Amino acid sequence: MSRTIWVLGNWKQNLLREPSASLAKAVADGLEAALAGASGVAVGIAPTYLALDSVAPHTGDGRGAPRLLAQDVGAQESGAFTGEVGPAMLREARVQAAIIGHSERRAQFGDHDELVAAKLGAALAGGLDVVLCVGERLEQRDAGDHEQVVISQLTAALSGLAPDLDPARVTIAYEPVWAIGTGRTATPAQASEMHASIRAWLDKAGLQGADRSLLYGGSVKPDNATELLAAGEIDGFLIGGASLDARSFLDIVTSASNHARSSQAR
Ligand code: PEP
Repeated sequence: MSRTIWVLGNWKQNLLREPSASLAKAVADGLEAALAGASGVAVGIAPTYLALDSVAPHTGDGRGAPRLLAQDVGAQESGAFTGEVGPAMLREARVQAAIIGHSERRAQFGDHDELVAAKLGAALAGGLDVVLCVGERLEQRDAGDHEQVVISQLTAALSGLAPDLDPARVTIAYEPVWAIGTGRTATPAQASEMHASIRAWLDKAGLQGADRSLLYGGSVKPDNATELLAAGEIDGFLIGGASLDARSFLDIVTSASNHARSSQAR
């Protein structure tokens, strides 16, 4: 079956409200040309919480306009959780999906596996889709533990999911920590090898790996996107640095559209 190719921008702690709105508008304005009629490609952007409302008017279903994502979500629906932003607050701000388990949150803000699982459950229960980030650190790859690390992150996040929550609403993004913001990209072979392992794990867990879009993240740029997609297992990207510039983000969307068209022609 053909899987949606997602091109998602994670703006991190960058851009105030007005520049966020301008960037969102530039992405929305250029989207039709970048998609050029290709089916099966969709786009999303994740501004900082405080810019969600200025960006929202330029967002939509992922094709006519980018989908609106949040960079994180609180693990509880509401209550005495100072500083947190819960799923209902994000839904009210027109957010459709939340990124959970980004390596920067895992490394710097204490988002351990149990918290990631709790956030994931709360997001799904609150009506958000989820982009779940997994990935190994450099020393874990050097020690040959990369696959085991990623599988254990997946197991922690997904295996205890309440039966009434739909795991099909979770898109997994493999983001090797050593490739994020470093300019060092995983090779297409490294990324697609991990994607194949993730698919095998999903199959074993009864989660239909073949039907799932699996994303890659880590220094994706217009000049490496085509090569990564050509490796076969990668169904799009979570993009940090290159998503802060509309032209480079849209150029990656163009690569995804070209890839979708040529795959459909085969
Ligand atoms: C990210 O933050 O998810 C990311 C992949 O960043 P960059 O593209 O800058 O490596």
